[in-house]
Amino acid sequence: MQTKIETSTVKHVRTVERLITGQATSDGAGVKLTRVLTQNLQQRLDPFLMLDAFGSDKPDDYIAGFPDHPHRGFETITYMLAGRMLHRDSAGNEGLLENGDVQWMTAGRGVIHSEIPQQKEGVMEGFQLWLNLPKRDKMNTPWYIDFKNTELPKYVTQHGVEVTVIAGESNGVTGAVTREITQPRYLDIHMPASTQFEQTLSSAHNAFIYVYRGEVSVAGKAVPAQRMAIFANESQSDGVIIEASEDAKLILISGQPLKEPIVQYGPFVMNTQQEIYEALSDFREGRLGEFSK
Ligand code: MN
Repeated sequence: MQTKIETSTVKHVRTVERLITGQATSDGAGVKLTRVLTQNLQQRLDPFLMLDAFGSDKPDDYIAGFPDHPHRGFETITYMLAGRMLHRDSAGNEGLLENGDVQWMTAGRGVIHSEIPQQKEGVMEGFQLWLNLPKRDKMNTPWYIDFKNTELPKYVTQHGVEVTVIAGESNGVTGAVTREITQPRYLDIHMPASTQFEQTLSSAHNAFIYVYRGEVSVAGKAVPAQRMAIFANESQSDGVIIEASEDAKLILISGQPLKEPIVQYGPFVMNTQQEIYEALSDFREGRLGEFSK
């Protein structure tokens, strides 16, 4: 892994606006998960629509998976920390996600897909993030790519902080996927005890972290495991400094808000109610998946 000398460039740090405890829920055919980014945070965290965290060593919590279901109008990014999940979709894509792999799917005008566990025991843990598409791209052709963990861009800082750059840019390292309009940044950050990590961030971008091991602190505020910290958008701020007094793992996500109307009905996210009706009738009449062929 390449070592990057992290130079201190952040002068005005962002503070933590608030901590969020997700909502326990289930989705698909009964997969237990924590919805960290819920619908009431979609405006605040624009362009991100949803973040689910799943993690269990009890097969009953995940075994049924997510049988065939549709999506339209946004992108889904699945980061599989542990476990094996098979994806199949109406565009003919198939991919097996395993420990540390990432799948990026642009639903665009319509995809029908299934996400089914390929294990009968053991731990299944990971995240699914929904990233909105700008109005002009919502009806684009669906797109799909998956990355083995070893294919993901990574670096380590001189302090020993390991960073996987799933999307966007960090410390001069370009991520696996970039997007021009929403400019998503998606980092997985592994921090040994007594280290700190800096990330420059445009003050206009909405940004948050989710800690999944240990505890970190940001501008003096403790962020324990299983919490999301939403960063304030102070106009003069130019980045964030994260400190870990113990071993910690977290994801950092930021993006440029679209500032367009968000109308969600289940797996469809469009700009108007009329577009939702069209998505529903396309789905009911069997046209939604057909579009992607
Ligand atoms: Mn899905």
